[in-house]
Amino acid sequence: MQSDSVAQQDQLTALRTKNAALQKTIDALVQRVEQSEGLHGSAHRLFEETATLQGTLDERTEQLCTQAENLVEAREELELQAGELCAANRRLEAMRLVIDEHIILGVTDSSGKIIEANRAFSKISQYSQSELLGQNHRILNSGLHDKSFWKKMWKTVGSGNTWHAEVCNRAKDGSLYWVDTTIVPLRDPDGGLDGYLALRVDITARKLAEEGLKRAALFDDLTKLPNRALLGDRLQRCMDKTKRDKDFLYSVLFIDLDNFKYVNDSLGHEAGDELLIETASRLSEAIRLTDSVGRCTDDSTGSFAARFGGDEFVMLLEGLHTPEDAIRVAERVGSTMARPHRIGSHDIAVQCSIGILHGNDQYLQVDDLLRDADTAMYEAKSEGKARYVVFDESMHTRARERLELENDLRCAVESGQIQAVFQPIVHLESGRIVSFEALARWNHPTRGAISPAEFVPIAEETGLIMSIGNGILVEACSLLEKLSRSPDGETVSMNVNLSRRQLFDPAFLPSLDVLLQSLSVPAERLRLEITESAVMDRPHMMKDALASLKALGVQLHMDDFGTGMSSLSLLRTLPLDGIKIDRSFIVAADNDRESIAILNTIISLGRNLNMSVTAEGIEKTEQLATVLALECDLVQGYLFGKPAPKEDAEAILGRTFDGIGQFATPAAKHA
Ligand code: C2E
Ligand code: MG
Ligand code: MG
Repeated sequence: MQSDSVAQQDQLTALRTKNAALQKTIDALVQRVEQSEGLHGSAHRLFEETATLQGTLDERTEQLCTQAENLVEAREELELQAGELCAANRRLEAMRLVIDEHIILGVTDSSGKIIEANRAFSKISQYSQSELLGQNHRILNSGLHDKSFWKKMWKTVGSGNTWHAEVCNRAKDGSLYWVDTTIVPLRDPDGGLDGYLALRVDITARKLAEEGLKRAALFDDLTKLPNRALLGDRLQRCMDKTKRDKDFLYSVLFIDLDNFKYVNDSLGHEAGDELLIETASRLSEAIRLTDSVGRCTDDSTGSFAARFGGDEFVMLLEGLHTPEDAIRVAERVGSTMARPHRIGSHDIAVQCSIGILHGNDQYLQVDDLLRDADTAMYEAKSEGKARYVVFDESMHTRARERLELENDLRCAVESGQIQAVFQPIVHLESGRIVSFEALARWNHPTRGAISPAEFVPIAEETGLIMSIGNGILVEACSLLEKLSRSPDGETVSMNVNLSRRQLFDPAFLPSLDVLLQSLSVPAERLRLEITESAVMDRPHMMKDALASLKALGVQLHMDDFGTGMSSLSLLRTLPLDGIKIDRSFIVAADNDRESIAILNTIISLGRNLNMSVTAEGIEKTEQLATVLALECDLVQGYLFGKPAPKEDAEAILGRTFDGIGQFATPAAKHA
């Protein structure tokens, strides 16, 4: 039993211990519960606080989000604005560059001293910006504007207004430039004058273009000399001035190049142009070098040379002391033109004929002035070129007569008033007539016979020589054919003068060929005469033209030998069969030993070059004796027979002449 109680006691103790432990646990639990309740409260509070905080946070977050959104928007806006600002800045910079480059800006103080100058100003004026600053604006003065121009400017800006004009300024290197200029007076705060702002725009290119157009209208493109229009204007001014001022003297020189056409024809138009340019510079030089004429100082006054057209130039000489001053200029022109012209690889001798007209108050029209100067020039040409002639009233009459003659000549050619006459050419050794020279004669209905010396030059000039020459050629060949058929004429030849116009006419050669064939005339019996001066006018082209003729089989003789100054080396290269010594040498040899020596030289020259030599114009037995002694081959002259109609030629064919030019045998009678 005891054990039970102990056991029970033990159990009780154990229970008690357990109980105590439980109690502890319960207490702990209670404590925990209590704590938990506290925590719960705290938690609840926390929860509440958290909720509050969350609310606040949400609100803030929302606010921040809104703010952030706003900021993004603002940033975007700012970025946009920044972009626009950058673009605007770029535009401004570009504008600044353009302005700095192209708008010439300068500021001067009230005394005209430059105090601001941009890059464009420096660039156009060629002064550096530092060189410009402190300078007076007058350093830009070109001197091209007169006093009244500047007076107007000062008056405008002085009264506080903006002045605007096109101004020509001078750059540092002396060159000129044009600027469209606006000058604005600047005011200080008190309203006083503080200086001037000058805004300029470069218009040089436009001005030059305008100037170019003006020049094109008034100046010759090739030679750069004033043209006919500008000349006319200046001549008119001179005419007006002489009426106001009796002491004002002026002269007009009408200048025409001699044989310019042949330079063009033989060396080409480029060479011709070069010659004209060279002539222009020599003419201007002649004025420059002559002290007694008022020289051209600018575009509006003074003496100058103008190109009238083609190879014609006109010099207007103003401010002369005496009319002789114009003669001196003409002489200078003559001597300057006489110098050979180097054109390409050629040295060309081209001289000029000058007509001088002294202006007077009787002239009312520019055309009249020029007409008279031209008439005088024409006189110079007819007197042998390379000279000057002063106009006088009698030239009018001559010019009119010449014009009438020219008209008459046209009719004469059409109505067959021009016919051939024939003059015998005699072989000295045998005394036989070996040829006839066909010479043109004009039987004018009212004036009677007119000499070829008078009408051939007009015919040459007008081109009528082609029909005249060809007509004579046909007559001559027809007679030659007729004479050839007679026993005395089996070997007779026919000399025909050939103008250079015919020679250079492309149709001439074929038509001559046809003529010779149609008449069955042997080509070698036709002797074509070309004057030495014609040969010398165009020696280069002449060689080929003569060679083509020669190929046809005809004979070629150089006429009027000794007057055209041909070079001996050239003579050697031409396909010539003979030379005809000009009559002047025969006349000179009458009483002059030196002329006989010259005659002798010419005859020997011909002989040495294997050419026949004809002495022209033998009128006297003494002359015949001279050429006989010098062993000339052929003679022609009044002593043997004057040029006569074809019937006379037929009649004398077959006669021989003795040593004194008398008929030794009568002509045989022909059927
Ligand atoms: P040219 O060819 O030298 O002709 C010779 C000239 O001298 C001719 O003059 C002739 O009449 C003249 N004459 C001949 N013997 C004597 C003389 O003893 N004394 C004098 N004082 N004169 C003499 P013309 O007929 O007056 O002819 C002059 C020039 O006109 C010619 O000179 C020739 O160059 C030219 N000519 C004449 N007919 C023609 C023609 O059909 N065509 C061409 N292109 N020219 C011609
Ligand atoms: Mg002749
Ligand atoms: Mg002759």
